[in-house]
Amino acid sequence: MRERHTPSARTPTAKDVERELARARSARRLLPWAVLTAAGGGALAVAAGGGARGAVALAAVGLVFALFVWTTSIARCPACGARLRQTRRPGSRGVAGPAEVLRIESCARCRARFE
Ligand SMILES: [Zn+2]
Repeated sequence: MRERHTPSARTPTAKDVERELARARSARRLLPWAVLTAAGGGALAVAAGGGARGAVALAAVGLVFALFVWTTSIARCPACGARLRQTRRPGSRGVAGPAEVLRIESCARCRARFE
């Protein structure tokens, strides 16, 4: 038996968080298009003579999609699902390098450390 004992829940690793951030980032890139599609759908309905009701219906569908994209664009803690907040740490050692990249080291809610 090793000294290190595993907690009841799987501890999220930095890789898990990185994957989550990458997923959120790509969803965020998609968000303007989703909103544009919603607006464009509404405009198209007006142009096609669908009237205000048709425009609202089409825009609503697009907005639901945009909302869905928006929720997926939020990076969440792999352990508890809380929203992860990126904190930019000033280079304490005055070294600007790849270490300056935004990193999330721990969850603000469940205090899980991602290492
Ligand atoms: Zn958490």
